[in-house]
Amino acid sequence: MTKNIAVIEGDGIGPEIIAEAVKALKKIEKKYNHTFNLTYVEMGGCAIDKYKTALPDFTLEECKKADAVLLGSVGGPKWDDPTAKVRPEQGLLNLRAGLECFANIRPAKVYPPLAAASPLKESIIKDGFDIIVVRELTGGIYFGESGRDGDSAYDTERYSVSEIERIAKVAFELADKRNKLVHSIDKANVLESSRLWRETVQRLAKEYPHITVTNMLVDNAAMQLIRNPAQFDVVLTSNIFGDILSDEASQITGSIGMLASASKGEGSRGLYEPIHGSAPDIAGKGIANPIAAILSVAMMLDISFDLKEEANAIDNAVNSILADGYRTADIAAANEKTTGTEQIGTLICDRI
Ligand code: NAD
Repeated sequence: MTKNIAVIEGDGIGPEIIAEAVKALKKIEKKYNHTFNLTYVEMGGCAIDKYKTALPDFTLEECKKADAVLLGSVGGPKWDDPTAKVRPEQGLLNLRAGLECFANIRPAKVYPPLAAASPLKESIIKDGFDIIVVRELTGGIYFGESGRDGDSAYDTERYSVSEIERIAKVAFELADKRNKLVHSIDKANVLESSRLWRETVQRLAKEYPHITVTNMLVDNAAMQLIRNPAQFDVVLTSNIFGDILSDEASQITGSIGMLASASKGEGSRGLYEPIHGSAPDIAGKGIANPIAAILSVAMMLDISFDLKEEANAIDNAVNSILADGYRTADIAAANEKTTGTEQIGTLICDRI
């Protein structure tokens, strides 16, 4: 298979973790006989310094031409002035908009060797925690009409049937490749937009008779994620509820350095990135955890290129080095020995 991939290293630890992600990609390329053509482009603070814009036109053009985009992270104290007109995160928002990404896909998984890092009791996560939150990204209250009226303020939650259908399809198709289970989260007892959400999801579910769909109210879902997380597999939800629930789910895993994400529009192209930021406090020290970036590559192989075996090879390699006790500082217990960014990357490549 031949694929074109745009690579954005970004700022802070971005270049360090992306170097390891690319190493894993090259290992897969060699082992499975694929060709991955990489084009490096700039975005974020480094692009502001060079081009005075967070997302240069040619970066967006290259990303639009690519089959997938791999991104490190952007931002840092140098560009943190909240009153500045040009800011690194504009690059990210404009890139997602430019690629018309309406679906945010965030897996949250507890790797058994790291179970102790979860803030939940082992008795609760003993049955495993491996879910994917599918969050609508371009609609809902974050994009609805808002304003001030005298001494009051308002924001509007609005969804159309087509917006709900296209995000629900992403969830159903992911569930089809997994455990055939979707929890659709809403607030249909109170909100009209949620009633339309539920009606639309239920209608669409008839096209996927082999998938079990459970409707759950968001307040209950927030509780159930802590009480009995093993009941979930694919969690489908709106922009605001997904924002909150995906952060809650990520905390259950115990480490931000382990979590990857994808943003997708229609078609197979996607943007793949770790959920963490540019970690300026540890940048340049060679101690950042590259696993989230490496797992972003695994998501790319699975979701955009449909290379399940290759994706699993990365996931298994990650599990294997964790089982053997290799840890970057962020996931190490107080008395555990730590391993640096580059060495973790090499160990994972060796086991792919
Ligand atoms: P952060 O995720 O960068 O860091 C939070 C904490 O987690 C820090 O202590 C950091 O050292 C640690 N951490 C994060 N990733 C790690 C990794 N891979 N390995 C080991 N430790 C890791 O969040 P923050 O400190 O709030 O933000 C720092 C900068 O990143 C800000 O400029 C922010 O705007 C930006 N940011 C960017 C993105 C993105 O590019 N998608 C996301 C969030 C924050």
